[in-house]
Amino acid sequence: MRIAFYGAAGEVTGSCYLVTTTRARVMVDCGIFQGSATDLARNARPTMFHPGDLDATVVTHAHMDHTGRLPLLVRHGLRCRVYCTRPTIELTDLLLRDAAYLQQADVLRRNRGRTGRGCPPGRFCEPLFSEADVQQLLGLMSPVALEKESSIAPGVRVRFVDSGHIIGSTSVVLTVQDGGEQRTIVFSGDVGNPGTPIIRDPISPRVGHADVVILESTYGDRDHKPMPATVEELAGIINAAHGDGGKVLIPSFAVGRSQTLLYELARLWHAGRIPKEMPVFLDSPMAIEATRIYELDPRLYDEQAREIINEGERLLGFPTLRLLRSGDESRVMNKLRGPAVVIAGSGMATGGRIVHHLLHHLSDSKTHVVIVGYQAHGTLGRRLVEGAKSVRIDGQNVQVNAAVHTLGGMSAHAGQSDLMRWLSGVLGQQSAGKGAGARAGEPRIVLTHGEPLSRAALAKLIEQTHRIQCEMPVFADEIEC
Ligand code: ZN
Repeated sequence: MRIAFYGAAGEVTGSCYLVTTTRARVMVDCGIFQGSATDLARNARPTMFHPGDLDATVVTHAHMDHTGRLPLLVRHGLRCRVYCTRPTIELTDLLLRDAAYLQQADVLRRNRGRTGRGCPPGRFCEPLFSEADVQQLLGLMSPVALEKESSIAPGVRVRFVDSGHIIGSTSVVLTVQDGGEQRTIVFSGDVGNPGTPIIRDPISPRVGHADVVILESTYGDRDHKPMPATVEELAGIINAAHGDGGKVLIPSFAVGRSQTLLYELARLWHAGRIPKEMPVFLDSPMAIEATRIYELDPRLYDEQAREIINEGERLLGFPTLRLLRSGDESRVMNKLRGPAVVIAGSGMATGGRIVHHLLHHLSDSKTHVVIVGYQAHGTLGRRLVEGAKSVRIDGQNVQVNAAVHTLGGMSAHAGQSDLMRWLSGVLGQQSAGKGAGARAGEPRIVLTHGEPLSRAALAKLIEQTHRIQCEMPVFADEIEC
């Protein structure tokens, strides 16, 4: 049997892996490539396999770089069942429907701008996929419980294990039988940052013996600042803004980061560590909806979150929190005097409602901008992090007099030490199962989902620690196993 790497191979985005045996073809994830215009153009290219030939698809979690090309595959013939957890289905519904809508709006705008000229070659003049494609995909998605093994294709069984990254996120264990041979393949998916509130910490899948471990390496070269220090810093910024009568603007991803912020703000509010009367606005319909999905199944929560609920406290709410659904409510905010906290998308300030908040308040020295996530090159968020004195927003030059703070500890991804701990968890059982010191049949470790430098740093550390040479595939590479 073989495993092919059709994305996230030497880069972070576009996760897509294909396991092929003589009897079955199973795909794990199929996300979009994100970043530059060249990266985006890759999404429209046909896949290296026919989607109609797949026997099953497995999705590790709902982030777009793991699901975003699935509706496109449906358009090109994907008809197999798509297995994942229930929250992944709920969030995929939310995120892909929104993506279809935004693409449609973008195409209309572009086509209007090019009246009579059509679209230049190589550019999209039609959306990657439509809402109808998303609807059809949702019809193929089947929920699977955590830790339960199910048969999904001839000779292929799957087990999902909590990976602690966002609600419903998983690592995946495939047990594959082909021609009398059996192989166990572990896909880490995105491994979470232990200590992330609400959800449980990542679990190393118990497999006894793994033949291949495919491990993400997003932060393979560094550790994050601990969460308590990060929350301390956030409280300090909010209190300073309250003292000055300024705004705290937080560009935030709708799924995961926004709920982490709400959780921490609720704890700070209840502990009296941020001003009791200062309003906090969640100005994002998508984050509001994602928060509702987070609240659906407390069985997925960690112990602290369950304790908070048992004590009758609201997990993600507090009296000064206001949810802004409509665009009008959001715009009224621009006239609001006095201190306030605003959480709005997009996470890198490339679009969404955070843009008009920045436009109105960046020139005010009482404003604080709080960066809580990764900011890609070329984004407005990145220019702010890099200390730009003025930025261009909606065709206007805006002076940056606001204080810009970067909080390091809110990442949804495991840092280097936590990736090593996750891997040791998988390998530890391995040596226990085979007897101490056994080297024969040791697993192959394949590093994916990381920029070249992060991946190389992790590979070096794994080699030093476990004496296993990691494999580092590039796009379309295959391994036989
Ligand atoms: Zn993710």
